[in-house]
Amino acid sequence: MNDYYADLGVARDATADDIKKAYRRAARKLHPDVNPGPEAEEQFKKVSQAYDVLSDAEKKRSYDMGADPYSGAGAAGFGQGFSFSDVMDAFFGAGAGAAQGRGPRSRQSRGQDALVRLDLDLVDAVFGAEKDLTIDTAVGCSTCHGEGTQPGTGTRTCDVCQGQGQVQSVQRSFLGQVMTSRPCVNCQATGQVIEAPCYECSGDGRVRTRRTLTIRVPAGVDTGTRIQLAGEGEVGPGAGPAGDLYVEVAVRRDERFQRQGDDLHATLELPMTAAALGATVPFDTFDGEQELDVRPGIQSGEQIRLRGLGVTHLRGSGRGDIIVHAMVATPSKLTSEQEDLLRRLAALRGEEKPTGRIADPTDGSIFGKLRDAFKAR
Ligand SMILES: [Zn+2]
Ligand SMILES: [Zn+2]
Repeated sequence: MNDYYADLGVARDATADDIKKAYRRAARKLHPDVNPGPEAEEQFKKVSQAYDVLSDAEKKRSYDMGADPYSGAGAAGFGQGFSFSDVMDAFFGAGAGAAQGRGPRSRQSRGQDALVRLDLDLVDAVFGAEKDLTIDTAVGCSTCHGEGTQPGTGTRTCDVCQGQGQVQSVQRSFLGQVMTSRPCVNCQATGQVIEAPCYECSGDGRVRTRRTLTIRVPAGVDTGTRIQLAGEGEVGPGAGPAGDLYVEVAVRRDERFQRQGDDLHATLELPMTAAALGATVPFDTFDGEQELDVRPGIQSGEQIRLRGLGVTHLRGSGRGDIIVHAMVATPSKLTSEQEDLLRRLAALRGEEKPTGRIADPTDGSIFGKLRDAFKAR
C-alpha cells in the first residue's frame, strides 16, 4: 500500500489546505517543464497520485480506512484514476501535458475515408454489376495546386510563433510559474501564414466536387458488404493524400425471393388438383424461365431445388440454389358442380368422415417436411 501522506510530506492530520500547499510546493519543484528528466517525472507522478487521493474527500476516507485506489497500479502504472496528461490538463489547460507535436506541423495531411451507400437489386447481387455512383468529396484545388495561396503569392513566417508552430507561455498558477506550449492558432501550427488565401479554396488547398465513379460490384455481395476503393475518399488539407472510399451495399427486398446465405427461397402456390396430379410449372429465375417438375402428391412445405441458380459465392466459385417451397392452395369458392365432384371424390376415398388422425412427424408428412426444411437452413 502506498503511503500518500509520506509522498506528499504531510502529517496524517493535515488539513485540505495543508495538502494543497504541499502539492503546490512539490509540483513547483518537480513539474516536467521546470525539471525535465525521468526521475523528476516519476516523482511528480507519485505526488500527483498522492494528491489525487488526499484531495478527494471520498478517496481520502476510503484510503484512511485501508483501501488504496491505486494499489497494484504502482506509481508508474498510474492508470486507474487518470492519466498523466489528464493531471496536466486539469492544472494547465488541455494540451499542456502532451509532449509530442512540438515544432511546426505540415499543412498537408491525409484525407478522411468516406462511406457511401449503394442500393442494389437482388439480380445485381446474384451476378455482380457495374454501377455509377455520384459522390461529393474534397479534391485538390486546381487553382493553387494545394498550396492554399493565391497564384503569384506565397507564405511568410508566422509572427505569433516565429515559425515554431507552437506558442510558449509562462502561466502563473497556484503552482507558481509554469511554462506551457500549445499549438499556434494564427498559423494552425504550421509556422507559416498564407499571405493571400486562394480564392477558389480559401486556403484549404482542396475544394468539394461532385463526381461520378463507376463501381464494379462483385457478384455475391449482400447488405452490409463494404467495397473499398483505395484513394477515392477525401483529399486531405493542403491536397494531402486522399483517404479511401468505402461503398456499403444495401440489397433491396425482392418480391419473390428471400435470400439465405447464397440460397434463394421462394414459395410456389399450387392448386390442390395440380398438387395431387403432378404438373410441370413454368418458373421464372434470374437465369430465365425454368420448368419445375411438381411430383404427383406433393405436400405443402415440400421443397423443389434448382441447383446452381442462386447467388454467386462472393469468395470461391459456384452458386447457391433456388429452393422452391410448395404451398397447396385449398379451393375456397366452389360451384355446386365442383362441390358435387369433390363429394364424390371424398366418397370414393372414404374420406366423408375424416378421423382426425394425428400425423406422425417422421412419416414424410407436411410436418416432417417442414421440420427437415427448417433443419436444412
Ligand atoms: Zn486553392
Ligand atoms: Zn504561428
